[in-house]
Amino acid sequence: MKTIKDLDVRTKRVLMRCGLDMPLDDKGNITDDGRILASLESIKYVLDNGGTLTLMTHMGRPQKLMAKGMSKDEVTKKFTTKVIIKSIIPHLGLSEEDVFFCDDYYSGKYKLADLPDNKLILLENLRFTPGENSKDEDERKSFAVILKEFGDVFVNNDFGIPHRKNTSVYELAKIMDSYAGHLLLKEVTELNNLVENPETPFIAILGGAKVEGKVKMIERLKANPIIIIGAMKYAFDKARGRDVGASLCLGVDTAKALLDSPKKDSIYVVEQDVVVKKTESGFDYYTIRITNGNEPISENEAGLDIGEDALTEIKKRLENSKTVFWNGNAGLSEDEHFRATFKLVEILAGLKDKGVKVVVGGGDSVTALKEAGHTIQEFHHVSTGGGASLAVLSGEKLPALDVLGYY
Ligand code: ADP
Ligand code: MG
Repeated sequence: MKTIKDLDVRTKRVLMRCGLDMPLDDKGNITDDGRILASLESIKYVLDNGGTLTLMTHMGRPQKLMAKGMSKDEVTKKFTTKVIIKSIIPHLGLSEEDVFFCDDYYSGKYKLADLPDNKLILLENLRFTPGENSKDEDERKSFAVILKEFGDVFVNNDFGIPHRKNTSVYELAKIMDSYAGHLLLKEVTELNNLVENPETPFIAILGGAKVEGKVKMIERLKANPIIIIGAMKYAFDKARGRDVGASLCLGVDTAKALLDSPKKDSIYVVEQDVVVKKTESGFDYYTIRITNGNEPISENEAGLDIGEDALTEIKKRLENSKTVFWNGNAGLSEDEHFRATFKLVEILAGLKDKGVKVVVGGGDSVTALKEAGHTIQEFHHVSTGGGASLAVLSGEKLPALDVLGYY
C-alpha cells in the first residue's frame, strides 16, 4: 500500500478524504473536534511540504432525512460542511479567506483550473448527492469522475467507512493515483498488531450488546483472559443455564459454541451484576439488586450493569498486563444509574502511566469514554472507526484498503 509518506506533495493538489463527521449543538457549532485533531497530521503534512489541499467529508445522513421528507434547504442548513471551516483554521494558522468553499459541485460545474490555486478547498457534504453511496455502481462511478477533478493525487485518511464501497473512499481510489493517510495507516497498524503480535500478557475486555457481530474477533484475538462484560455476559450466562429474565441477551447459540470450543479456557465472564425490576415505562430504580452472578434473574427483571466487585476483579486481572483491548459497554451506561462503564474507563485510563498499551474500539465505547470525562490522549490508541475497527479485528477485507493495495 502506498502511503502519504511516499508522496512528494510539492506543487501538487492533494484531494483528501477525511472523516470529519462531528457532533453539532442546536446552534450548529461543533461540540467535539476530536476528528479534526485525528486528521491533522496528514493535513499539515501536505500544507507544510508545499502542497495544496482539497478536503472532503460527509456529515450525518442527509439522504435518509430527505427520504423521510425533510426539505433540501433544511438538510443543507443542518449538515453543511461549512461549519468545519471555523474549527479547522486555527489549527492550520489560516484565516477564513484562505479557504474556498465549493457548495454545488455535484453536477460538475467547477473546473479546478478556474478555482484559486493557493487556497484550501473544502467540498460541501459528500452525501448531499446520492452518488456518494448509491447502490447503483454507474452512479457512483460518475460521481467519482466529478470528484477526481479536485486533485492531482488522492489521499484517503478516513477510518469511519473503509468497510463500505462509498465513492469517496473506493471508486475514487480506482481512478486516481492513491495513498493512505497517517490516520488510516495508524488505525490498521494498531489493530493488526493486536491480532498479530500483541505484547503479552494481552487481555481483552469485551461487552456491549451483540455477540454475533463480534464472534470472529473473539476467535482471532489471542488474549488471555477474554473478559466478558455488558449485555454480552447474558449470552454466556444463558448458555451456561442461568435464567437471565428480561436482560438484553443476543447470540446465545454463538456463546454456547464458543464455550464448547478450545477458546473456553481463555473466556472469563464477570460474575456480580446489577439487576433491576422492569416497569411498563422503564425501570423501578428502588429495586436495584446486586447479585453474585449465579442467582437467577426473574422474568420481570433485567441485568443492566456489572457490580463493584466485578470491577475490582477486572482491575486485579489487569495488574500485570502489557496490552489491553476494550470494546463494548459494561452496562446501560447511557442511564446514570448504571455507570460501571465510566469506572472501567477510569481504570483503563490509569494504565498508560504503567506502560500498558490500551486500545479502545467501538462507537458506543468511545462515546462512553468521552462522556466519562476522559480524552483519547490517555490511551495508547482509540479507534475513530466503530464498525471498521471490529471489521479489521475480525479479519474482513475492507474495500477501501483493498483498493489502495493493502492486501
Ligand atoms: P460498541 O458500539 O462500542 O461496539 P455495542 O454497540 O456492542 O458497543 O454495545 C453498546 C451498547 O450496549 C450501549 O448502548 C449499552 O447501553 C448497551 N449495553 C451494554 N450492557 C447492557 C446491558 N446489560 N443491558 C442493556 N444494554 C446494555
Ligand atoms: Mg454500537
